[in-house]
Amino acid sequence: MSIGLVFYPDPRLRKVCAPVERFDASLRNLVGEMLELMSSRKGVGLAAPQVGVLRRLFVCNVTGQPADSRVYVNPEIVHMSGAIEAEEGCLSIPNINVPVRRAMRCTIRARNLDGDLFEELAEGLLARVWQHETDHLDGVLILDRTSDAEKLAIRRTLKELEKKFRPARTAARK
Ligand code: ZN
Repeated sequence: MSIGLVFYPDPRLRKVCAPVERFDASLRNLVGEMLELMSSRKGVGLAAPQVGVLRRLFVCNVTGQPADSRVYVNPEIVHMSGAIEAEEGCLSIPNINVPVRRAMRCTIRARNLDGDLFEELAEGLLARVWQHETDHLDGVLILDRTSDAEKLAIRRTLKELEKKFRPARTAARK
């Protein structure tokens, strides 16, 4: 596998990503590797900036069954309703779980690997994952979506991640 996880506080996690323009073999290859990495880490979602690719796409799978793997390219959440708080973690921020308030249901509009536009409606965990991953494409992390009291509670764990962090020596893949 040629990709690896990017960890907090890597500045690449704070960038607004650019739209995907080419729906080609290299996109397909990247998505295959992202799905593999996500499943090896037992994650339910993984966005391109989390592997250092500053493009608007993410993969998810909320059941762990291969048939439920999904890809969303240039996604946009076009409708949200309801609100519910639940604990969230992030593969890029190890050992942290914080309560995050999200819409309960949402509609996403995105392109598939062929570049075709589609729309889907979800609620519960899948809707939460869509919101979490779409946030990544705008440089937004769960740390920005939780309460001040929670931020205080996780301060030491974040400090440890900040101490451990070494900036990548190679340029980010585009
Ligand atoms: Zn995340």
